[in-house]
Amino acid sequence: MLQNKIQEVFNEPGCAKNQTKSDKERKKGCAKQLQPGAAAGGCAFDGAKIALQPITDVAHLVHGPIACEGNSWDNRGAKSSGSRLYRTGFTTDINELDVVYGGEKHLFKSIKEIIDKYDPPAVFVYQTCVPAMIGDDIEAVCKAASAKFAKPVIPINAPGFVGAKNLGNKLAGEALLDYVIGTEEPESTTPYDINIIGEYNLSGELWQVKPLLEHLGIRILACISGDAKYHEIAQSHRARAAMMVCSKAMINIARKMEERYQIPFFEGSFYGISDTSESLREISRLLVERGAPAELLERTEALIQREEARAWERLAAYKPRLRGKRVLLITGGVKSWSVVAALQEVGMEVVGTSVKKSTAEDKERIKEIMGQDAHMIDDMTPREMYKMLSEAQADIMLSGGRSQFVALKAKVPWLDINQERHHAYAGYEGMVDLVREIDKALYNPIWSQLRKAAPWDAREAAQWLP
Ligand code: SF4
Repeated sequence: MLQNKIQEVFNEPGCAKNQTKSDKERKKGCAKQLQPGAAAGGCAFDGAKIALQPITDVAHLVHGPIACEGNSWDNRGAKSSGSRLYRTGFTTDINELDVVYGGEKHLFKSIKEIIDKYDPPAVFVYQTCVPAMIGDDIEAVCKAASAKFAKPVIPINAPGFVGAKNLGNKLAGEALLDYVIGTEEPESTTPYDINIIGEYNLSGELWQVKPLLEHLGIRILACISGDAKYHEIAQSHRARAAMMVCSKAMINIARKMEERYQIPFFEGSFYGISDTSESLREISRLLVERGAPAELLERTEALIQREEARAWERLAAYKPRLRGKRVLLITGGVKSWSVVAALQEVGMEVVGTSVKKSTAEDKERIKEIMGQDAHMIDDMTPREMYKMLSEAQADIMLSGGRSQFVALKAKVPWLDINQERHHAYAGYEGMVDLVREIDKALYNPIWSQLRKAAPWDAREAAQWLP
């Protein structure tokens, strides 16, 4: 059954890259062969956990040895406006006896204990390598527990060995489609109901966009899965339109919801002023197409005009300080174009951007924005990165935490823009925050001090002066 599911996920009609592959290539999935010395990245279980953990009121129970939960818990700053249950790490912590006798009873008892103590609206049970290999049937245990405790107990069958993080994201989406979405009805619906898919509310980014939508009277019926509640996702099939944010990690949810419930979707981004405006326009356009009053379009334009003017006014002070500054952008490739456009808006020059995980459309978009000579980096080793930075080919590097030490060693300012970041950069508000953080990093006095020769080196040099 799991194999069938994996093959189904590998055959994604919504993904252009996937459709250009031969049948044989498609069966192999999207993971690239690892090079010796390269980090493997997360496993499929890790990917599934990342995708679903932002559902805040659910108990996320990991069935496996304790290390699996230790590996995946708390590695992202997805914020919650309510329940804190998602911050508690639950694991069956199986041991040698479970391996010999099977861990299904142990799992059932753990589910019972969680329901007795916390009474969450649902329990998500994550499969991992060891119980999958000894043959624990989590689907059967979840079904029995659901019947016994009259509560949704959802199996997330994505053990680590089946593939990479990206596959896990999609298998998590499949679990939502199979067991959660469409299982409840909302109390009321409006012509202004939307879903946002693939937004995880990292550092509270969803909250930078939500007020804009609320101002237009647009209701987020469900965000999958940032700051989400179980019942919202169960009722999300009643939305009128959907936006798929940034990555294609959850494209299977967007596409299947369109097929099953006729919810049209588009792919957009909330990074940068123009992309935020475009996304708002597209949401309104889809809603009007689905029956919302046409005056929504006018109200959206008025909001965009007002917010853009406000953002540019606040950015004005930074523009002369940032104009012409060169940025090396290593984002992992997902929607690099979005960040590139945002940086160009304040006059910065992007000297290179990573495209490791970008799709063909993303690369085309980057060329459109940066020109045909765009320096797109497929894979850059830390050594090459260091060389580029120490030869002063860039004034600042924007990347994830993993490359920060390369920048620090090269004595070049660095700003975290990946999932571990502590600042939110979405919407108009986020753009102003991003520019402020870049400015702070660039003009931090530490850099000039750091680049000076150490006092002992200076003394030594003085000895040799004539
Ligand atoms: S690869 Fe397997 S054992 Fe390792 S963290 Fe992932 S699920 Fe756990």
